[in-house]
Amino acid sequence: EAITVQELANRMAERGGEVVKTLMKLGVMATINQTIDADTAELVVSEFGHNVQRVSDEDIEMGLQGTADTESALRPRPPVVTVMGHVDHGKTSLLDALRSTDIVAGEAGGITQHIGAYQIVVEGGSKITFIDTPGHAAFTEMRARGADVTDLVILVVAADDGIKDQTVEAINHAKAAGVPIVVAINKVDKPEADPQRVMTELLQYELVPEAMGGDIICVPVSAISREGIDDLVESLLLQAELLEFKANPDRNASGVVVEARLEQGRGSVATVLIQRGTLRVGDIFVTGSESGRVRALLNDRGDKVEQAGPSEPVEVLGLNGTPEAGDDFVVVEDDARAREVADFRAEKKRRSQLASATSGRGSLEQMMDRIKEGEARNMPLVIKSDVHGSLEAITSALNKLATDEVKVQILHAGVGGINESDVTLARASNAAVIAFNVRANAQARELARRDGVEIRYYSIIYNVIDDVKALLSGMLSPEQ
Ligand code: GDP
Repeated sequence: EAITVQELANRMAERGGEVVKTLMKLGVMATINQTIDADTAELVVSEFGHNVQRVSDEDIEMGLQGTADTESALRPRPPVVTVMGHVDHGKTSLLDALRSTDIVAGEAGGITQHIGAYQIVVEGGSKITFIDTPGHAAFTEMRARGADVTDLVILVVAADDGIKDQTVEAINHAKAAGVPIVVAINKVDKPEADPQRVMTELLQYELVPEAMGGDIICVPVSAISREGIDDLVESLLLQAELLEFKANPDRNASGVVVEARLEQGRGSVATVLIQRGTLRVGDIFVTGSESGRVRALLNDRGDKVEQAGPSEPVEVLGLNGTPEAGDDFVVVEDDARAREVADFRAEKKRRSQLASATSGRGSLEQMMDRIKEGEARNMPLVIKSDVHGSLEAITSALNKLATDEVKVQILHAGVGGINESDVTLARASNAAVIAFNVRANAQARELARRDGVEIRYYSIIYNVIDDVKALLSGMLSPEQ
């Protein structure tokens, strides 16, 4: 735990300049914006004659999520599905086609609301929840914020176009998150459609279709003619049954914000995907660094509901501020508790923004610390290069560097400049980005700077290998 000099001064209600002087007396040269460690801060506080009171994250956040659920309390819950794939391969069309299989909406004449997620009920009563924002950018952005909401990924590949850049990105983002993939081979209504070619191409990415003796379900579909949509729904349910997604519905609710906005007349509105427990009108909650009391709940058809259970998306009204997508959402016992946690988090956010602006510790350095402490055995990397030849040379050489203790884990390797998707993926997995003869675009650079993701630039293959080798050997535990 570190604190900036300014922050420390604020907390003691002393002038920043006085704190800097006291630090000097203690032999520490620091400016007002620099961070100092907790021990130094403690010395300063006693120099001023104040009482030392350290509040750690654990103290405040302790017990927020409640106790773990016993096996007997768990009940089956619907799977949560995200659609990914290359642009124009039919993600949006497929989400629409899937939505219209909902028998409940059909009965009501269904006016659908886009709230960031929706749930369908199919013949027989089974339910499936879909995240309404297709693509791996949103998916990985949420994961980077610590939110794992997706149980299954539908990888959409157009049968007339085959696997493309963003298809590969999607595959690697899903793999990095450890989320199972179901492939929808779309646009089979087109005369030039070639589903067989898509399945053969999948082999290159270690996705072996069932038809070829593997375990990847591939469903030929058309989002337009609706051919195969029922088969796709069935495959998702089958997969869900196999993986036994469960949650305890009988407890205080917790979940994740999938979308949030400020609306005229309604105030801050968040779409929350409930992960466990049941959320009710009147519940008091904390979400990110905001808090509130549920004033109303609305489902994805815009209907008011009294409660929402596991895997259900609901719009929540009654927030005191607007959280961000990926923030947690937890029901707590009372107002005081909600405010305590929200205030603490707001403060922590402010501090870490200040700290990252001044310290700039790279992701690679942090990764090495985790490996040294025995928390990690892999060094995850994202690698981009100008041509296929060097990309292959680099990845195969890096894969050979593995020792008994640590190895390189290549999350994504591709040809082309560094884009935002590369940086988000790296951030979600605490990885560094290796840029070989390529540059990062402006958005990617800005994102990397903001989130402390390290991009290393190279033009000689030997230097990449050498650097990574040095890093890996530096990671070995000292007694080896
Ligand atoms: P996204 O960018 O992946 O979300 O793709 P869209 O859903 O916007 O679809 C891109 C284009 O492909 C649109 O013009 C769709 O009408 C068309 N399209 C999507 N699915 C199908 C399909 O199954 N068959 C045919 N023929 N066209 C489709």
